[in-house]
Amino acid sequence: MITDVVQLTEKFISIPTVTSLTNMPIIELVQEMLEAANWEIERTDYTDRHGVLKGNIVAKIGPGEGGLAFCSHVDTVPGQEQDWPAFNPEIRDGKLYGRGSCDMKGPFAATMVAALSIDPSSLKKPMYMVVTADEEWGLEGAKYLAQHSAMLKNDQIRYGVIAEPTEMIPVYSHKGFCSINVMAKGKAAHSSTGLGESALMKATPFMNDLVEIDRIIQEDSSYQNSLYTPPHHTINFVVDTGEAATNVTAPFANVKISARGMPDARTDDVVKMIIDKAEGYGFEVNLDIVEPLFTSQTSDLIQSCIELTNAQPETVAYGTDGNYLMEVIDDMVVLGPGSIDVAHTVGEFVPVNELHQAVDVYTKLIHKFCQ
Ligand SMILES: [Zn+2]
Repeated sequence: MITDVVQLTEKFISIPTVTSLTNMPIIELVQEMLEAANWEIERTDYTDRHGVLKGNIVAKIGPGEGGLAFCSHVDTVPGQEQDWPAFNPEIRDGKLYGRGSCDMKGPFAATMVAALSIDPSSLKKPMYMVVTADEEWGLEGAKYLAQHSAMLKNDQIRYGVIAEPTEMIPVYSHKGFCSINVMAKGKAAHSSTGLGESALMKATPFMNDLVEIDRIIQEDSSYQNSLYTPPHHTINFVVDTGEAATNVTAPFANVKISARGMPDARTDDVVKMIIDKAEGYGFEVNLDIVEPLFTSQTSDLIQSCIELTNAQPETVAYGTDGNYLMEVIDDMVVLGPGSIDVAHTVGEFVPVNELHQAVDVYTKLIHKFCQ
């Protein structure tokens, strides 16, 4: 069994688990490691939107209720291997390079090493590992897990650490995610005939409205929360018109809009402004809202993380599995080695000293909340 955090990170990186692939090789390795240490395992597997088999694990050890969970995803963004040896990890100048080194196989390895270093007979409260698929595809693994894991539903887990890279700064809140799908319909015809109806032309005034709404929320501070950077909802949209070419009128224009919600920033009003405009044009609207993650800074978990890292707590703009896992875990913090600034890049790395610091901090959190 690998008990060194650097070696375990290297091992995980060398098993490609780009989101489009099955994650089974790593799920099975992790299950073996945990079973060998007598953890109770619950597998919640599913087929993803492309029919590929994906695995989620919830594992538990220790008596009683409450306890502490370490939560990690094992998928990564594509390797871009033409530009660097993404799946052949190497260490240079104290940095471990490879796809997933910081997002988030390195942080995940640190939680495994910390959890497996504990003598189970010393536990007074349970310790959990929550391992998910498809985080990079809209948190689909965590969403599935929150709905289908009996262990997560039956055990009321008190504290959770999302081990995403935060440079070991405790993150007590991050934004949520609002997806608003607006469908404008037209009629395809050869553009030379004048007989078609361009859905894209119909949708254009609405897209101008989006630009105006974006301007309003960036100027009016009542739509903002200064605890976050940037403090507004960062509206973004893309348009899908299928295969439409310039000699065909677009039969549909699917305007896919995202806005990142925060507490106390009138997120409902922002969403309503967008929907009202879309419905005013008679377009079909579909909405999916994922709430922001928020844990009070007075929580024992946040306070302990401040003490152990000597860092002041922060918020971040990106989302994590915590958006769904907060439905089944009371208080959560995002805390892990490595920087989000190099995640998803060619040359992604995690500083080796931060990996070791993470093992130390996670081990102390286990002492505090489970022993
Ligand atoms: Zn991640």
